[in-house]
Amino acid sequence: MIYAANLKCNHTRASFELYLKALNEALKTQNENVFVFPPSVAFSQKESFFTQGTQNFYPCINGAFTGEIGKEHLDEFGIKCVLIGHSERRIFENEVLIKAKFDFAKEQGWQIFLCIGEDLKTKQDNQTKDFLKKQLENLDLTYENLVIAYEPIYSIGTGLSAKNEDIEEVLAFLRTLTKAPLLYGGSVNENNIKEITKIKNCGGVLIGSAALKVENFIKMIKG
Ligand code: PEP
Repeated sequence: MIYAANLKCNHTRASFELYLKALNEALKTQNENVFVFPPSVAFSQKESFFTQGTQNFYPCINGAFTGEIGKEHLDEFGIKCVLIGHSERRIFENEVLIKAKFDFAKEQGWQIFLCIGEDLKTKQDNQTKDFLKKQLENLDLTYENLVIAYEPIYSIGTGLSAKNEDIEEVLAFLRTLTKAPLLYGGSVNENNIKEITKIKNCGGVLIGSAALKVENFIKMIKG
């Protein structure tokens, strides 16, 4: 089971050092199933028993891309894991940029956590599957280092996770399109994680708010 924490625009360099220390102490040894996406200014060069990933990057090595983070900057921290397509970034990014990021990350051999998810209107209009299929269009779903996180927008940061039967139906649909591990994200917390991780085809969770406090993330990992 994969446990991934998206810290979004939370935690500073100083507070993430403490997060890393506490998580290392809890994990004790290298754990290939635990991932944390801190803000890029908080990346740590200290040894970590989990994988640090980046919430964002620009598909370049370096160059005249004001305000962006390129491969060279990620390399300095040994970052080889990237989040792409999070709904909070799709506000600023179109499908062209998302594909460019995907293809660049694939070229580097990075692990890609690709987020997809529909809004409430799309769900109510019964268009979820078509919508998700479109979000996956033109992306290499056979890429060996791909993880797909199904994150319905109406459940992100709202405290209301999707219904288990809806998650099950969508994951079953995604399974027909790819062999990549499938995660669920959207208001996962200590109270619902057990049930969600039991859902068929669920290979793990992507957690935002409930993972901001390291002790809560640890509790969820330890079950
Ligand atoms: C997320 O940001 O990917 C997420 C799932 O957030 P939350 O857990 O707060 O809904």
